[in-house]
Amino acid sequence: MAVLDGCEGAFKTPIPEERICPQCGKEIEVFTVKGRVVEDTACECGYVIKADEPDSPMTKKKEQ
Ligand SMILES: [Zn+2]
Repeated sequence: MAVLDGCEGAFKTPIPEERICPQCGKEIEVFTVKGRVVEDTACECGYVIKADEPDSPMTKKKEQ
């Protein structure tokens, strides 16, 4: 496994990460960027790990 620590190129590269399913205890491979889950990932048991929102979806900046 390559070490990309501190590399700017890794900024938006999803990193596979194992999470433990809270429902059945199995390991689920999710993709994360900077520790955030970037897409919904379903476990075999049906539990879905939801993607983390990058920021508050309620507050959308409107700038000219
Ligand atoms: Zn599960």
